Amino acid sequence: MTLPQQTQVLIIGAGAAGLMCAAVAGARGRQVILVDHANKVGKKILMSGGGRCNFTNLDVLPKNYLSANEHFCKSALARFTQWDFIGLVLKHGIPYHEKKLGQLFCDNKAQDILNLLLDECAQAGADIHTHCEILSVAALTEDQLPARYKVSTSLGTIVCESLVIATGGLSIPTMGATGIGYQLAEQFKLPLKPRSAGLVPFTLAPDQLQQFSACIGNAVEVNICCGEHSFTENMLFTHRGLSGPAILQISSYWQPGQTLVINLLPHMDLASYLTMQQQQRPKVLLTTFISELLTKNIAQCFCDSFYGTQRDENGSVNSIEKQARPINQYMPKEIQAIAELFHAWELMPAGTEGYRTAEVTLGGVDVDYLSSKTMAVKHQPGLFFIGEVVDVTGHLGGFNFQWAWASGYAAAHFV
Ligand SMILES: Cc1cc2nc3c(=O)[nH]c(=O)nc-3n(C[C@H](O)[C@H](O)[C@H](O)COP(=O)(O)OP(=O)(O)OC[C@H]3O[C@@H](n4cnc5c(N)ncnc54)[C@H](O)[C@@H]3O)c2cc1C
Repeated sequence: MTLPQQTQVLIIGAGAAGLMCAAVAGARGRQVILVDHANKVGKKILMSGGGRCNFTNLDVLPKNYLSANEHFCKSALARFTQWDFIGLVLKHGIPYHEKKLGQLFCDNKAQDILNLLLDECAQAGADIHTHCEILSVAALTEDQLPARYKVSTSLGTIVCESLVIATGGLSIPTMGATGIGYQLAEQFKLPLKPRSAGLVPFTLAPDQLQQFSACIGNAVEVNICCGEHSFTENMLFTHRGLSGPAILQISSYWQPGQTLVINLLPHMDLASYLTMQQQQRPKVLLTTFISELLTKNIAQCFCDSFYGTQRDENGSVNSIEKQARPINQYMPKEIQAIAELFHAWELMPAGTEGYRTAEVTLGGVDVDYLSSKTMAVKHQPGLFFIGEVVDVTGHLGGFNFQWAWASGYAAAHFV
């Protein structure tokens, strides 16, 4: 089906932000056309949260977002809060639950959230077109007002008064991600903040993988630090490296070459515990104690690495036995060194898995060139950027969708 030749509002990208913007602008009485190159809209919504869509969080705060300007997200997040989205979820009778840490998920399927948005769009009269490739975008001259932009697409050419770019980030190209939003930003002289994969698993070097091969599939709660940032959540050993919520969270703050400090026993003081056990269960092996606290395989791998790296005061590797001893045979200095190994494991990942599996793209359109109230480009009337394409990236836990909803809602009132 070809596109109409003109509309008041054209939104490119029918993901979370674009659908929200279309529904709200349509409800304001604006004539809205929403186009997407994919065969289906909202693909990332459908695959999110393991198919249950973690659609928001009970505790949304600006500190849950990364951006070169930490203040930028505040205005939009304050005007469309998590409670506003929960209100929509209730209005549509969608059953949901809090999984943990304020994260709200559908009881049934992520399709419920997509249906909510499609219903709202339908009620608002927003017109959605899939299979629509964008060929070019041009700004019109003043004498053609109120039309401001001409967009050539595979479904025909259309002029619009307001053009909203909601094309998301680069993660998961197989789901339709492209860099078109960034190209359009550059076309209209908007600087970009460096982009990289965020909320992404780490890869390890071959020797590290070999060392932890027995731990694959094991998950433990850890505290993980990178510089001044830290998270306490689960970490999973995988056949390529490390994953799990703690890893995804810290990956957004990690730069190649940086060392992570991982506390594998964040809720206890291992040295005190082992010292106490020297009195209470003196004949029990060190690895048995650690296995009780972590998993058997993790205990074994780390204890092996401890023995493998012991050096005497001259720096040469000790000839201490490769096997754990009963706990009463450990000197206080050794107990201290073992505790340090588990409380402050220093690890330099080889890299990340990149956009192939990343949940988000860090960086993007420089927010200093956008109005935080309207999401409009300050120097380019009628042009708006919303959602993930903008340099605002949330933590894991429903924060990215909340940014998509809030930024889409903000723009919808000014398009
Ligand atoms: C596996 C996975 C799970 C996730 N789970 C969660 C979660 O549970 N909770 C959470 O908050 N966040 C989650 N996220 C992040 C969240 O999905 C995104 O932050 C959010 O979808 C961004 O919304 P958006 O509208 O900006 O972009 P998107 O939802 O990515 O939408 C962009 C749209 O633009 C279209 N598009 C792209 N290029 C073009 C083009 N050239 N022409 C036309 N159209 C184009 C795409 O087809 C797409 O429909 C997850 C992400 C992934 C990858």
